[in-house]
Amino acid sequence: MKEKILEMEEYAKEKNVPIIEKKSIAFIMKYIKEHNVKNILEIGSAIGYSAILMASVKEDAFVTTIERDEDRYMEALKNVKACGLDKKINVVFQDALDVNLSAEIKYDLIFIDAAKAQNTKFFEKYKYFLAPTGVIITDNIKFHGYVENKDKIESKNLRSLVSKIEEYIEFLKNNQEFKTTFYDIGDGLSVSTWKNEE
Ligand code: SAH
Ligand code: MG
Repeated sequence: MKEKILEMEEYAKEKNVPIIEKKSIAFIMKYIKEHNVKNILEIGSAIGYSAILMASVKEDAFVTTIERDEDRYMEALKNVKACGLDKKINVVFQDALDVNLSAEIKYDLIFIDAAKAQNTKFFEKYKYFLAPTGVIITDNIKFHGYVENKDKIESKNLRSLVSKIEEYIEFLKNNQEFKTTFYDIGDGLSVSTWKNEE
């Protein structure tokens, strides 16, 4: 498994797959352990790297992970199998905005790590599947530092993407239902929990 993880890191670097930074996944794994997280939903599997690490934290951690890109989905399936985690990780090949989850399962952790411009949409869609004591963690809140340095961005597309992330940050800061803490770890993480559970 350790070797497979290293191999995935190499693959990601070679093929430019944006897998999570080590410090960020370490933070999430610690959270899973400390809060006894069991059911995990991930939006954006890529090659299965973060799903595999989250599922490996403890025996009773289960991950449903959604990926819309077919090549990456296939790669994720392959990696999950190679790590012997196919009973603990369910990889779904679909656009996360089109997925119909069973209303019966509530997740202790929802990890949003897909198209950054859609963060608010993912959050609004999937909050209904979050357990009362659950948490929504979002990756790439700093977006490689661009969020702090928007004026310096020349590309219009990139500037618009960064604006979307800023809007998401405002959405979280002003949210009536959720309380959010922002962490300057890796590429920036936000950690949101229901307000009424305090
Ligand atoms: N969580 C992974 C990295 C995910 S990269 C890890 O850290 O190992 C983001 C992935 O989200 C990409 O593979 C992209 O194809 C996928 N994605 C983007 N928008 C999506 C959507 N609407 N539905 C499903 N997957 C999406
Ligand atoms: Mg990420």
